[in-house]
Amino acid sequence: MDPEYCHTEGMPIFSRRECLRLMCRTGAGLAATQVALKALDWFIPSAQARPLSKSLHQAMFFKKMSRQRVQCELCPRTMIISAGKSCFCRTRKNVKGTLYALGFDKPCVVNFEPIERGPLYHFYPGNKTMSLGAAGCNLNCLYCQNYELAQRSPEEVKTIDLEPAAAIRKGGIKSVTITYTDPACQPEYVIEIAKTAKKYNLPVILCTAGYINFKPLEHIISFVDAFAVTLKAITDEMYLKLTGVHLEPVLRTIKHIKKSGKWLEIVTLVVPGYNDDRKGIQTAATWIRDNVGKDTPWHLSRFTPHYKLTKLPPTPRKTLEEARKEGLKAGLDYVYITNLAPHRGNHTYCPNCQKKIVERLGFKTKKINMNGGDCKFCGKKIPGKWS
Ligand code: SF4
Ligand code: SF4
Repeated sequence: MDPEYCHTEGMPIFSRRECLRLMCRTGAGLAATQVALKALDWFIPSAQARPLSKSLHQAMFFKKMSRQRVQCELCPRTMIISAGKSCFCRTRKNVKGTLYALGFDKPCVVNFEPIERGPLYHFYPGNKTMSLGAAGCNLNCLYCQNYELAQRSPEEVKTIDLEPAAAIRKGGIKSVTITYTDPACQPEYVIEIAKTAKKYNLPVILCTAGYINFKPLEHIISFVDAFAVTLKAITDEMYLKLTGVHLEPVLRTIKHIKKSGKWLEIVTLVVPGYNDDRKGIQTAATWIRDNVGKDTPWHLSRFTPHYKLTKLPPTPRKTLEEARKEGLKAGLDYVYITNLAPHRGNHTYCPNCQKKIVERLGFKTKKINMNGGDCKFCGKKIPGKWS
């Protein structure tokens, strides 16, 4: 009964989305694909290759340099990009001395699903969200579950001609989630979607690896209501090994989001032989407790083999259970096991009376034993947005 997992590590497009994956990859069989999508009750107006040159949107956060070069200031790579070139994340391109955002208005995945898939467990549980993402990412994680989209440019995949307002109206959704790849590389599109969502009073959620510079982060935060941020390891050495980037900017992002007052949940994919050692788990739990508070939900997520780690086994159940124990022992109130269901670590327990206050099966919320935001049994206030 394990639902195939999706989260900001790069949500895989699971079985019933295979037609969309195919569409993204090849663009083949569009008519047949649209029929299939309709049957699956998705609302996706059309998918097509669009000449990007006709719809370029200027990027934010860059500075012009001599000889038509630019410096991107969005992420800590701060790379200098020559005219005609793209950068590591493939989401931005220098055209004659100006940087453009290639993924603007060009999602390659759109889906309607439970808000819990973020994973986000304390933010309007049981609601349906519209999840979307555009190609490209500024990390290259060894286990990326969506590498076919994350390690490509919006120019290389089929994009979906999605009019957000129409999708929001037809989708019957209660929020919008930007995910699958890393929305931190798409601030222009995040802001555009957020503005549309606000017109319909819908909260906006970002699932991100958090590798972004301070100024752009601060700007994005003002448009977003909730964040699921991955903390992929707790030493710089392991961060570099797993993702190719440094740990420190991610820690700064997590702290800054918490300080902003926006809702935050932290996600760690527990990868056998990489970040599953007891000391690392203890250190991560302690860091969360001391820097963003013991009431910040922490998701310990089961790894399944993908991309460059196909030879590793999935995370054993026992490893996740022991990691959860360490998190609770460190004093964290809400430590979840995700991507393994059914499991008692899927549920929320009141830290005061220990009763089960939210019952889940994987990403599906089954029952909520709360009055508003308070435990129904003892009245303790539970952090999050509940209604
Ligand atoms: S490479 Fe990007 S999309 Fe893939 S898991 Fe890492 S942060 Fe997520
Ligand atoms: S956001 Fe992308 S373009 Fe900008 S510095 Fe980072 S990797 Fe390069």
